[in-house]
Amino acid sequence: MRILVSACLLGYNCKYNGKNNYNSKIVELLKEHEVVPVCPEMLGGLSCPRIPCEKVGDKIMDKEGNDCTKQFIKGAEIALNIAKEKQVDFAILQRRSPSCGYSLIYDGTFNGNLIVGSGIFAQKLQSLDIPIMEAESEKFV
Ligand code: SF4
Repeated sequence: MRILVSACLLGYNCKYNGKNNYNSKIVELLKEHEVVPVCPEMLGGLSCPRIPCEKVGDKIMDKEGNDCTKQFIKGAEIALNIAKEKQVDFAILQRRSPSCGYSLIYDGTFNGNLIVGSGIFAQKLQSLDIPIMEAESEKFV
């Protein structure tokens, strides 16, 4: 199978703080499959490290109040095109991210609170009917 994966889960240091979300269980699971790593935020031109961002309504704002919606949408569209071109069978995404989060995301207050919702990239993937699994879901913990 061909599986799209949030690059930070594979150990790419593309997270906002310059680190990653390496997940050995996911890496093990992927050994038998073709992997398509993407980081929508880096693809959108954001720097690394960068100021953390959260979804606030329809916008993506950083912690200092700057509107980063444009970069997030651009990155999500580029990542979506990669998913289409590669014809991925499904996606494994990092939880809680304003890009990759699928079932729960931060609520926009930068206080660590979670709400039900999806990040910009996860929303676009859903529009293609590509199945999504989340890191840290029961399957992977
Ligand atoms: S945008 Fe996605 S892949 Fe990139 S660091 Fe955030 S969660 Fe990981």
